[in-house]
Amino acid sequence: MQKGTIGVTTENIFPVIKKFLYSDHEIFLRELVSNAVDASQKLRTLANFGDFKGEVGDLNVRVTVDKEAGTLTVSDNGIGMTAEDVDKYINQIAFSGAEDFLSKYKENASSIIGHFGLGFYSAFMVATKVVINSLSYQEGAEPVRWECDGSPEYSMGKGDRTERGTDIILYIDKEDSAEFLDQQRVDMLLRKYCRFLPVPVISGKEREWKDGKWVDTDRDLVVNATEPQWMKKPSELTDEDYLKFYQELYPGEEEPLFWIHLNVDYPFTLTGILYFPKIKNNFDINRNHIQLYCNQVFVTDSVEGVVPEFMQLMRGVIDSPDIPLNVSRSYLQADTAVKKISGYITKKVASRLEELFKADRAEFEKKWDDIRIFIVYGMLTDEKFCDAALKFMLLKDTEGRYFTLDEYKTLVEASQTNADGKIVYLYATDATAQYNYIKAATDKGYNVLLLDGQLDNHFVGLLERKLENTELVRVDSDVIDNLIRKSDRRSAGLSPVDTAILSQLFEADTKKVDKASFTVQFEALAPTDQPIVLTQNEYMRRMKEMAAMQPGMNFYGELPDSYSLVVNTEHPLVKGIASAADAALAATVQPLLDTVSAKNAEAEAIRKAADGKALSAEDEQRIKDLEKEVADARDAQAEAIKAYAAKAPEVSQLVDLALLGNGLLKGQQLSDFIARSVELLGKK
Ligand code: ADP
Repeated sequence: MQKGTIGVTTENIFPVIKKFLYSDHEIFLRELVSNAVDASQKLRTLANFGDFKGEVGDLNVRVTVDKEAGTLTVSDNGIGMTAEDVDKYINQIAFSGAEDFLSKYKENASSIIGHFGLGFYSAFMVATKVVINSLSYQEGAEPVRWECDGSPEYSMGKGDRTERGTDIILYIDKEDSAEFLDQQRVDMLLRKYCRFLPVPVISGKEREWKDGKWVDTDRDLVVNATEPQWMKKPSELTDEDYLKFYQELYPGEEEPLFWIHLNVDYPFTLTGILYFPKIKNNFDINRNHIQLYCNQVFVTDSVEGVVPEFMQLMRGVIDSPDIPLNVSRSYLQADTAVKKISGYITKKVASRLEELFKADRAEFEKKWDDIRIFIVYGMLTDEKFCDAALKFMLLKDTEGRYFTLDEYKTLVEASQTNADGKIVYLYATDATAQYNYIKAATDKGYNVLLLDGQLDNHFVGLLERKLENTELVRVDSDVIDNLIRKSDRRSAGLSPVDTAILSQLFEADTKKVDKASFTVQFEALAPTDQPIVLTQNEYMRRMKEMAAMQPGMNFYGELPDSYSLVVNTEHPLVKGIASAADAALAATVQPLLDTVSAKNAEAEAIRKAADGKALSAEDEQRIKDLEKEVADARDAQAEAIKAYAAKAPEVSQLVDLALLGNGLLKGQQLSDFIARSVELLGKK
């Protein structure tokens, strides 16, 4: 019987393993089964090369739980180990700087395990004693038994195994790790980590429902009956195969839109299949993820850092032995190999999308609305992807037609270039709510894009940066003639007194709207245009929308929505209102306006005379009096207009109609509007 100390530099590695590797205990099973699968595949390879002449038989890995004995055993009939092998591969776990490393990465179990090839030793995270019983495939080999109770001392001697292969017997720590003596839990873990391994992995027996309870049958339960389709050549797979595989990965999910088969072997090895799912809500986004494998062994489904951010909306499998899977996430993100992989995936996805677009545009258009979210997200977060996507990205107009960027430019360039030579793309974010504005624009022969996606307020800015000499404005951000200004504005031609009267008259009715502010503006639009149009400044609206998406930019977020109430002075109704108001009020308002400007001028003159020096008490009093007179005149003006407004329901009616058209007429104001409408109808 050989006795010895395992060759580690740290005095006692096992308590360290146990203590620090707490969070990821379950991966011991992945490590042991992977070793067993490797041993099986090595035998297959030896046989293929004629270096093993015996009977290979059915290779498999069997995981057995014995609750009574308190053991979990991983058995294989692979190459097995001789005593020399055990000495070399198990006893001499040589590594340097272990302590440094452990203290650095103590929060990350898998980093240590992978880094030092401690795969086998991860067994000590869950076991108080580990036994290896092995018989090598080599002719005349002696069986070997190795035993270690978690201290660095082991014992090794002649074993009793009679068939080629290895048993790894774990005496499970019943205090901390009893869960691994539960067959169902073990099944579950094997399904998670081992379902795509290339050698059958058997976990107990299949069970069936009999006489009111589950009982074991005599059929082995093979956990990896699923084929890793990504390892095959794309040419060997049909659409059905891809769809079926998707169902195996995500049972019960709706069919994906399409998929991309990844297959590289230089400068790194990577295979995989990525699917574009149909995303319906946020819940979907968080539920299913891309799964990362390393030589068909499941590693993780948190792929941040490995795939570009926007591709985390995708699903499927990535398998690469080159991704340093067992290191911490921050390390992963800084790794140049990972960056290359991420870049490669991005390029591949972009070129596949371009291919699909070119091959079958009609089909691509059909799927566009569903994949748009990926593409927009990708364009916003990944410069390279953005530039690639400009080739196949589609713009959809309010009539449901799709255009490439070039096509769209050609479509609108002639009619939608403004007086400054800028091409103006009009867009709507809600085809129903903005119907009136869309109609006004299309009636004028303009085209309106529909940008109603979740990320579109960011996307609008991106398009402006990417497209030369192009500006995007929402259809309701100004009256139609000003959206694409062809020549200088025509002035409304109102006299100052009429401007004062009409401003107040129209403004009065907007005061009742909550959380919105209005500026009244007069424009000489066409007589056939609407009498009043409500517009929302593009810049302010964008700021507010952005603020709503990012916490911290509260200043803009808390501002009220600001609207312009554009009054069309050329409209016959407005003309009528203006001349009636002028006739009724000008005689009263004009002297008041004169008073205001005279008094203001006098106060200004006194201040000017003082030339920056302190005012005398007398002057100070005079200015106060003047200010009071101005205020009184203003009040008198307001009173007069208010009294008149009460007798001019058509102003309120017009303003309310404009508010109604924008969904802003609510509550009391809405019921007033209805009552007033009924009354006005009755007058006819
Ligand atoms: P790694 O798998 O990263 O090399 P491990 O500590 O898991 O590190 O295993 C060390 C070595 O022990 C393996 O490389 C292999 O040579 C040997 N080994 C482990 N398990 C088995 C097994 N079931 N059959 C044969 N050899 C094994």
